[in-house]
Formats: sequence, structure tokens, C-alpha cells
Amino acid sequence: MSSQCRIGGEVVEAPLFKGRAFRAPTGYQHSKAATAADVVRHEQEELGNDLGVSTRMVAALSKCPAEAIVWVGRSRKAVGRYGKPEPYEAEGHPIIAVDGEGGYLVLRLDKCPCAEGKGAGR
Ligand SMILES: [Zn+2]
Repeated sequence: MSSQCRIGGEVVEAPLFKGRAFRAPTGYQHSKAATAADVVRHEQEELGNDLGVSTRMVAALSKCPAEAIVWVGRSRKAVGRYGKPEPYEAEGHPIIAVDGEGGYLVLRLDKCPCAEGKGAGR
């Protein structure tokens, strides 16, 4: 299911995360100036994960703080390789990318000054 979301002033199509989620904090701290687009670029260019995030989406994410974008999984097992899994509230937040190994990169709209509320435009 896809929904229109307003991200970084752009209207983009993204499926919304449904159901329970888990996250394993990696302990990695982004610099204060980093954006969500930087996180996606880091994943794609430096870690070599081809996430298939569109240029338009990356442009939209350049207005969002890095802390707003997080990797979650649907089970403890899916995120266990990153650290100790904890339940995480991801319901209704847009999925920016999936990694093919059970990971979902979601944008926490509630941590995004640019977004117009959770599931905006639904
Ligand atoms: Zn944002």
C-alpha cells in the first residue's frame, strides 16, 4: 500500500509501515548537521547497499534530520545482527527503502520538522 507523504516540501509516494517493529541501536551517532539524505547516500555509496531510493526522494530527505531515518525490522531476528533488538514504534511512517534482508528504512515523521503530521496526505 502506498500513500502520499509530504517530505521536505515534496509530495512523494511511499508505502507506510504497518505492524510491530524492532530496532537494534547501533550506537552510531550522526553529526548534528547530517540529514536523512546523507544517511541514504552513506548507505548507497559508502556501504554499497543499492537501496534504489529515487533522486527525488533523496532531494526531499535533504530537508530532514539524520535522526529521523532509522532501520527497523519486523522481528527481533531481522535486526539482531546490529545489536540488541528492542520494540520500536514505526506504525504509519513511510518506508524509504528495504534492504532485502528484512530491514526497513523508515522516516520518523514525528522527528521531522518538515512533515505535516504522521501519514500526511492519506
Ligand atoms: Zn523531514
